[in-house]
Amino acid sequence: MPGTLYLVPTPIGNLGDISVRCRETLENADFIAAEDTRVTLKLLNHLGIKKSLVSYYEHNKAFKGEKIVDRILAGETCALVSDAGSPAISDPGEDLVKQCAEAGITVCAIPGPCAAITALSISGQATGRFCFEGFLSTAKKSRREHLDSLKKEQRTMIFYEAPHKLLNTLEDLRDAFGADRSISLCRELTKLHEEVVLTTLGEAVQRYTETPPKGEFVLVIAGAPQETTEVVPEADAAARVAQLIEAGLSRKDAVKQAAQELNLPKNTVYEIALKIPE
Ligand code: SAM
Repeated sequence: MPGTLYLVPTPIGNLGDISVRCRETLENADFIAAEDTRVTLKLLNHLGIKKSLVSYYEHNKAFKGEKIVDRILAGETCALVSDAGSPAISDPGEDLVKQCAEAGITVCAIPGPCAAITALSISGQATGRFCFEGFLSTAKKSRREHLDSLKKEQRTMIFYEAPHKLLNTLEDLRDAFGADRSISLCRELTKLHEEVVLTTLGEAVQRYTETPPKGEFVLVIAGAPQETTEVVPEADAAARVAQLIEAGLSRKDAVKQAAQELNLPKNTVYEIALKIPE
């Protein structure tokens, strides 16, 4: 009988955020797969848990993933943790979950700290519809393509960014979405210096040009405003009706045709046509 893969979220700053269920899962697992075993060891020491650790991170995940799957298939239970927050969310885990699912292994996610959701909930931006965009690529082409694809995005957008890349990213976001777009910079969440700065992209660039950013950031950006259907100026409709009348159409037919051409309600064009002198 195969074991289970548990995804165990860990605190993103405040150690008090580890839940009873996460703690029990770490205690009961046969082994823990960790992004950085040194970081996880500190957490385990804090919790008073002694457990066998294996490393599972970006550059060994293909090889280590198979070994972990084999152990779970042989009946062991694995708890997967990242350095902070939810595994598999801009962190190692996505591939392991897929490998386990394909091998018929039960994957159980324990809810808990996630920087994206924590930031969204206190951002002051619309939370009804949102999309998570993770880190922007550092490769120029894919970064530009990613930003281009979001120019018309109407949902609130969530980005992760490292402090030393923040200013450059804010400049690119400003260039893509405009200086007036609203942004919430959610910094040092759950930590002593937790802060939410609600401002515009233009002002954010200015702010962090003057004072270099410190700490960890989640960027929550308002979506694009809804596109309004193009309003045909009254003058266009009047000019077209006059033109059609001059060409020999009756006023009624001119209104009908202009309304069709300009995709406007007949009544609207009729009102406009009334103002045209006989
Ligand atoms: N899987 C993690 C999660 O779901 O919370 C995210 C891991 S990702 C490698 C790290 C990024 O998360 C940071 O660069 C930052 O954007 C964000 N982050 C993590 N902890 C944070 C905190 N305490 N305050 C603000 N942002 C944080």
